[in-house]
Amino acid sequence: MRMLTSVTDMRAASAEARREGRRIGFVPTMGYLHEGHLSLVREARARCDAVVMSIFVNPLQFAPTEDLDAYPRDPVGDRALAEQSGVDVLWMPAVEEMYASPPAVTVAPGAVGSILEGAARPTHFAGVLTIVLKLFNVVQPHVAVFGRKDAQQAALVAFMIRDLDIPVELIVAPTVRDADGLALSSRNVYLDAAMRAQALALPRALAAGVAAFRAGERRAGQVIAATWAALDGAPGVMTEYINVVDPDSFLPSHAATPRSILAAAVRVGSKRLIDNVVLGEGLETDPVRTAHGR
Ligand code: AMP
Repeated sequence: MRMLTSVTDMRAASAEARREGRRIGFVPTMGYLHEGHLSLVREARARCDAVVMSIFVNPLQFAPTEDLDAYPRDPVGDRALAEQSGVDVLWMPAVEEMYASPPAVTVAPGAVGSILEGAARPTHFAGVLTIVLKLFNVVQPHVAVFGRKDAQQAALVAFMIRDLDIPVELIVAPTVRDADGLALSSRNVYLDAAMRAQALALPRALAAGVAAFRAGERRAGQVIAATWAALDGAPGVMTEYINVVDPDSFLPSHAATPRSILAAAVRVGSKRLIDNVVLGEGLETDPVRTAHGR
């Protein structure tokens, strides 16, 4: 595995791979790798000859009040996991490498950028799309793999690719969960044992929404109500939003269909968790694996 830090070296490695006729698959991450990230590497590997992973904790997508400085980091452990999972190039640029000066131009996410996660985090998706576009411009991948765990992010990246004519094929991979149903996330390290147990209310509530859908409910409001009811009274958990969105527009929809996405955010103590499920698939179709100790 090659380890790179500069934009220049990353560009050169991509140019070389392209000259050799190799297809480049790209997995952007913020590091503190877990099995969810590694599943994206496998998706990229299955479609491409060379897999590039970036690790970059992007300041632009954190509000001043958020956890940028506390964001978990483990470059040594990440390097080992990336190598074991078959990454060819691990690119870990420093903040100054990506933002020599504060950007004068950023990518505006449009209406979908200001609902759900965007309502709670108004500058978040402009930061995400700006860094994703910058990473794409350096890595020049044929294929980019994102996780459905961050469904709104994946939808906005798809819109950016479409609307800005970016020559990248987007793959959105299923959410990897721990055996108890909790979606893997680097931020789960913030949860102590008691909070982690409380956090299980989130996948259970999504499962309750799916159960309502499976029982024949097609009114989004009622699916949301069933999900909300499952979270009501869950100890230590405060519900932030629950919504059913159309998979193509990512806008809230009145009708629940098999492709609709049931998305929720909760707080456990001071920690925020998000999760979502495709109503027609449910949680159990997602591969269940145990995290690498995370
Ligand atoms: P992050 O490092 O949290 O920014 O995530 C990097 C990529 O991994 C994003 O495309 C995420 O959606 C994806 N990802 C994070 N957690 C999971 C998970 N549990 N299953 C699948 N993909 C995930």
